[in-house]
Amino acid sequence: MEATTEAWMDRALRMAKEALENGEVPVGCLMVYKNEILATGRNEVNETKNATRHAEMVAIDQVLDWCHQHDKDPDEVFAHTALYVTVEPCIMCAAALRMMKIPLVVYGCQNERFGGCGSVLNISSDDLIGTGEPFQCIAGYRAEEAVEMLKTFYRQENPNAPKSKVRKKECSK
Ligand SMILES: [Zn+2]
Repeated sequence: MEATTEAWMDRALRMAKEALENGEVPVGCLMVYKNEILATGRNEVNETKNATRHAEMVAIDQVLDWCHQHDKDPDEVFAHTALYVTVEPCIMCAAALRMMKIPLVVYGCQNERFGGCGSVLNISSDDLIGTGEPFQCIAGYRAEEAVEMLKTFYRQENPNAPKSKVRKKECSK
């Protein structure tokens, strides 16, 4: 991997950490257009009470804003934009990425529950007529760090799991 890719995934991981610290599913991402970061997104579902505000959707909106501000054609911009995201995009986001015709997605760990790039469905590469364009994926980049954050989040989300274990241990003493 190139040094720039390293730096971008580092930034995406920092966004994921910020999500985690704010009680959100730890997913962070960047949209990079011709070596320029146009958007940095993280999951905002709990904060906005809107189940669709995944990191990728937040970033897509930022790119659209950027295009509007800079008087650029979104079709041309998205055609030269890569997404760097800590977790495999879900089915919804993969479909959105297809519709925006983003050609490349570099991601960290698999999304076993909702993944749209192979884990659950193959939205990224399937032949879907009328649903944008397929996109290329580069998977597994710094996956361990991304998985670790997800695990931390789901441990917090399910307070019964660790507590009951602790209680059981205490009882057996
Ligand atoms: Zn998503």
